[in-house]
Amino acid sequence: MKLEIRNVTKTYKEKIAVNNFSMELQSGECVGLIGPNGAGKSTIIKVISDIINANSGEVLLNGNKISQMKREIGYLPQYPNFFNWMTAKETLAFMGELSGIPKEELVKSIPEILIKVGLKGEENSKVGTFSGGMKQRLGIAQALLHKPSFIVMDEPVSALDPIGRREVLNLIEEIKKDTTILLSTHILSDAEELCERFVVIKNGTKIEDTTITELLNRNSENKINVEITDKDQPWIEVIKKLPYVQEVEVIGYKIKINVDNIKNNKNMLLKNALDHEVDIVKFDINNDTLEDIFLTLVV
Ligand code: ADP
Ligand code: MG
Repeated sequence: MKLEIRNVTKTYKEKIAVNNFSMELQSGECVGLIGPNGAGKSTIIKVISDIINANSGEVLLNGNKISQMKREIGYLPQYPNFFNWMTAKETLAFMGELSGIPKEELVKSIPEILIKVGLKGEENSKVGTFSGGMKQRLGIAQALLHKPSFIVMDEPVSALDPIGRREVLNLIEEIKKDTTILLSTHILSDAEELCERFVVIKNGTKIEDTTITELLNRNSENKINVEITDKDQPWIEVIKKLPYVQEVEVIGYKIKINVDNIKNNKNMLLKNALDHEVDIVKFDINNDTLEDIFLTLVV
């Protein structure tokens, strides 16, 4: 399986929601589409899922236009629309029939999918009684009902409480084993847990297509973080004069130190601190979190 999004542009009246966006996805990947609110994530996902048409550009699955390949793709909307008075089973039957799955097939696949998403035993409960996590798992069941090879999920965990979030993250981890996934989120840590590759979008434009590892390496090279106590503030002046120190940034008792070569200089710096009898509260390297990096990218 290969998904190609080629030069997709989508405007709403004069507003450009997605601007010349391209990316590719290979079979077996789990990719996070990351960006702040209003970046254009839902719009891209709707174009991929053939819910809306782009002004220009195209989406191809295995070389064919996505509109001819809808059986291969599952879609979880950002705000799934359920009827509270329907049971879980009725919901899936209703949605399955709407998307043209034969009744005989649904009789077999609905119980299977309810087991898969952990809703066995709840098939006859009304959706109105479900927690956020259960509703979202039902949404995922609906997206997987026709056994697509590729599933697109729009902010699958963003709106959930910690328990619901955990339920859904675990479920996606399971689905990942046999389904190619594209999921969007504005919360980087959601994607961090599931995806190795990130595509970052800002104001409708792709600004990054990279892996977690690459991103972390690129942004925190040669940086040492030291936390000291009040009595050792004068040591900061000592650090600034060290030949291998390039830059020193002080925030309260926390010091960020850029050095020439992290491998050679980290022990030198530590030794210098000990020589000056500095009371070290914390000493670590490469401490830029993905969240820090994400913020510098999109803000
Ligand atoms: P995201 O999912 O990343 O939050 P969206 O794709 O929903 O972003 O929206 C991208 C931009 O397009 C936003 O500025 C939003 O206000 C605008 N937009 C989205 N849908 C519509 C619509 N139906 N009509 C007009 N503007 C829209
Ligand atoms: Mg959205």
